[in-house]
Amino acid sequence: MTAFQLTGGWIEVIAGVMFSGKSEEVIRRVRRAMIARKRVQVFKSHLDGRYAGIHAISSHDGRSVEAVPVDSSAQIAQSLDPMAQVIAIDEAQFLDNAIVELTTSLAARGRRVIIAGTDTDFRGEPFGPMPQLMAVAEVVDKLHAICVLCGSPASRNQRLVEGRPARYDSPVIQVGGTESYEARCRACHQIPRRDEDQGRLL
Ligand code: ADP
Ligand code: ZN
Repeated sequence: MTAFQLTGGWIEVIAGVMFSGKSEEVIRRVRRAMIARKRVQVFKSHLDGRYAGIHAISSHDGRSVEAVPVDSSAQIAQSLDPMAQVIAIDEAQFLDNAIVELTTSLAARGRRVIIAGTDTDFRGEPFGPMPQLMAVAEVVDKLHAICVLCGSPASRNQRLVEGRPARYDSPVIQVGGTESYEARCRACHQIPRRDEDQGRLL
């Protein structure tokens, strides 16, 4: 993770687009902490229920570790094991801003906090509490996926609604219709605005 040795408590953020390997990296760090016989507690946001169900963190390649599903930072605070030495949280972009204070106080009380999330939304703009978490962390790793169009490192989430690039002002929660996401680089990322549509998406 880092070239230097951290002591006491600290916060490490794993940021990046979907498919960049954040969950894989959380799972790897959690497994290593367990091998080191640390007491580890893992949480993940409810909003992401892929593969192994909501009581686990799963990566897109199918590996998983058990996790407590939560949908607020207050729920994490309530479910905390006072003996846990390492606290890992996945899908942090969906959590409220109080997660910044909670992780800060955990680190101040000697805990290692591993927190992963998508740092930009489908528009390429900062997502939820991720910018603040990245600012207060001792260590930030920003991972990249592979752009599905050109093969370059991907730093953007391309949202597709009915197979077409979602407009900038499309609702964040889509009611009806099929939506999907792709990893793309900055150059291949498309977020048409209403005045650029020329009727194509209306
Ligand atoms: P994240 O938590 O960041 O969404 P995961 O750890 O769940 O990422 O998944 C990463 C895995 O997704 C990769 O190891 C690879 O097997 C797979 N994958 C699928 N599509 C892509 C892509 N476009 N770029 C990189 N990896 C991809
Ligand atoms: Zn590209």
